[in-house]
Amino acid sequence: MDIKDIIIIGSGPAGLTAGIYAGRAKLDTLLFTGPVLGSQLMLSGRIEDFPGFPEEITGPELINKMKEQAKKFGIEIIEESVVSVNFQKKPFVVSTNNKKYLAKSVIVVTGASARWLGLENEKRLIGHGISACGVCDGPFFKDKIIGVVGGGDSAVENAIILTKYAKKVFVIHRRNELKASKKLQEEIFNNPKVEFIWDSIISAIKGESYLEGVFVENINTKEKRFLELDGLFVSIGYKPVTDIFQNQLELDDYEYIKVKENTKTSVDGIFAAGDVCDTKYRQAITAAGWGAMALLDADEWLRNLQK
Ligand code: NAP
Repeated sequence: MDIKDIIIIGSGPAGLTAGIYAGRAKLDTLLFTGPVLGSQLMLSGRIEDFPGFPEEITGPELINKMKEQAKKFGIEIIEESVVSVNFQKKPFVVSTNNKKYLAKSVIVVTGASARWLGLENEKRLIGHGISACGVCDGPFFKDKIIGVVGGGDSAVENAIILTKYAKKVFVIHRRNELKASKKLQEEIFNNPKVEFIWDSIISAIKGESYLEGVFVENINTKEKRFLELDGLFVSIGYKPVTDIFQNQLELDDYEYIKVKENTKTSVDGIFAAGDVCDTKYRQAITAAGWGAMALLDADEWLRNLQK
């Protein structure tokens, strides 16, 4: 069976950048897109902060340009999901529902997905008032009223970032204390633009083509009220896409892939990059840079194999 130099699992900015670099390095490369090409970025309406696009670009446009660029350099892109891997023997085995593939090295760039509330209207209004990323979408909410749901580091960080743009930020949390670090708590409690709605959940989201507001329910009193909002940032955590790597790669307590020296995983010859190992930055640009690093590390590792 044909043994590829590299298999890249994932097609967000980390995966496609690794693909571009692999193509230019003339490595025999296969990239699996997963269920959706571009994953999280496909939900991003407008991107203002990716260098090189001063006129703004949408997430899907950016991903399609990256895909085109990777294909130009000759890598093979397969629009399928990887359903299992065997990293315990070499060459490594990567399987889809249709076929098994072999590779000398693998780059895991499966990303992470934001957790959503699971309420009606939520998914439809993503990019139309609903978002999960304050850094990405905050600038679109200048002088607006925003709600942030969650009480962890992501929620507090998003709320703080959003106060730079919005005139008012409500933090809606299901308990009466935050889970976020003490340092972030201190910062948010001192921010006059933030108002907390404690012990409360969002019971419904209102909006046809754009978000109009949310129904907030106090879990103790069961009292409900309508909160008019221009934006809602759902910040209830991220889930790295690592199900198929359980028992194959070392993961941390939150199931992110553990990396050392930037991109090396617990298995020699397997590299990881981007949101699947990132609990901090989670930006398209950082993922892209990290994808390039993973390919450079994998390329160096392959060259050492031949010595
Ligand atoms: P997280 O720590 O899991 O916090 C999720 C928050 O959302 C919790 O407050 C939780 O409430 C709430 N929540 C969960 N499900 C909910 C639901 N269905 N409805 C309403 N609220 C819900 O997630 P995270 O904040 O994304 O952080 C994940 C990891 O990344 C952590 O290790 C964090 O430290 C790290 N991180 C670090 C930074 C930084 O260092 N600057 C920034 C962001 C994230 P409860 O409190 O009641 O559980």
